[in-house]
Amino acid sequence: MSTVSIGLVGLPNVGKSTLFNALVKTAQAEAANFPFCTIEPNTGVVAVPDDKLTELARVAKSGRIVPATVTFIDIAGLVAGAHKGEGLGNAFLSHIRECAAIAQVVRVFADPNVIHVSGAPNPVDDVATIGLELLLADMQSLEKAVQRADSALKGAGASKEAVARATVYHKLAEAVLAERPVRSVDLEPEEEPYRRELQLLTAKQMLYVANVGEEQAGESAEQVLVASHLAEGGLTAETLLPLSAKVEAELASLPAAEQPEYLSMLGLKRSGLDRLIQAAYRLLGLQSFYTAGELEARAWTIAAGTTAEDAAAEIHTDFKKKFVKAEVTAYADFIALGGWSGARTAGKVRLEGRDYVMRPDDVVYYRVSA
Ligand code: GDP
Repeated sequence: MSTVSIGLVGLPNVGKSTLFNALVKTAQAEAANFPFCTIEPNTGVVAVPDDKLTELARVAKSGRIVPATVTFIDIAGLVAGAHKGEGLGNAFLSHIRECAAIAQVVRVFADPNVIHVSGAPNPVDDVATIGLELLLADMQSLEKAVQRADSALKGAGASKEAVARATVYHKLAEAVLAERPVRSVDLEPEEEPYRRELQLLTAKQMLYVANVGEEQAGESAEQVLVASHLAEGGLTAETLLPLSAKVEAELASLPAAEQPEYLSMLGLKRSGLDRLIQAAYRLLGLQSFYTAGELEARAWTIAAGTTAEDAAAEIHTDFKKKFVKAEVTAYADFIALGGWSGARTAGKVRLEGRDYVMRPDDVVYYRVSA
């Protein structure tokens, strides 16, 4: 995964752009020396804040640090009726399809000066409105897909694949008709490709970002769930991230040295950027591994369960073919033992084969054939 893309969606005026700008600005301040962090009006590629990477670079005396990146996309246009082309049309649908995960910004803050599209903020209704729009868009896609899959079954000799595809499509359509996201449908591993090929919106993992008032900025997900009634709307602490876009904007405008004090004054340990990235990684089941040498220390993002050879392919497509062995050590050992040679001497470097399942924070050196 060269970069993890997260689309910010939500009703108008909930604070998407405020949050997007704050995230990008915070990332720029934290990573002023990473030239590749590009910003376009609605797309920001930001470095993933990673203290372990900094430590690795220090121990390995690396010439440069190359962090993993996350791409945030500010996706406007999701309003009631959007699937029919109301508002800005449905161009936003294709933007959502390109994202690995969706972060839905929900307005919890009360500010009479900020107009709410339906009169007053009602987080539970707003979440339902967005959820319904995504379901309706998927319903349209599935109607056509089911027709296509069914007609492929007509006549003699329908392939096994065509039967399997139609079966999955029908299961997904049933879920959507019952107003359940297609990600909630249990499928066999061999059925997954048929869900994936449809690129449905409700197949994406969804993180709810509760944009709370400044006075609530330090509250836990559980507290916000109760106070906002979002718990009654079926949301859980696993998928809810409370933050204040206004606080994040304020934070982003402060010099880096003053940021920790501002955060602790509000009862916060880490920036919204850190917390959002961490929540997205958790939701998507992602983890990091590292390469560290004199040239550079670098973080790579993989799905949990990735094998050594597939992780190698992240670095270079050729590496999978040319894979010989992976030299692997744990991050903590690498640091405690002062780098590769210390870890080797202490017997903490293992030689692993292609099928080794990567552990979180492994430090790896790949031996590849010429
Ligand atoms: P978007 O339409 O979802 O992108 O919303 P914007 O980010 O443009 O915000 C809409 C309005 O709400 C702007 O006037 C913001 O200043 C205001 N706003 C955004 N976040 C907050 C917040 O956390 N607290 C308060 N009080 N106002 C906010």
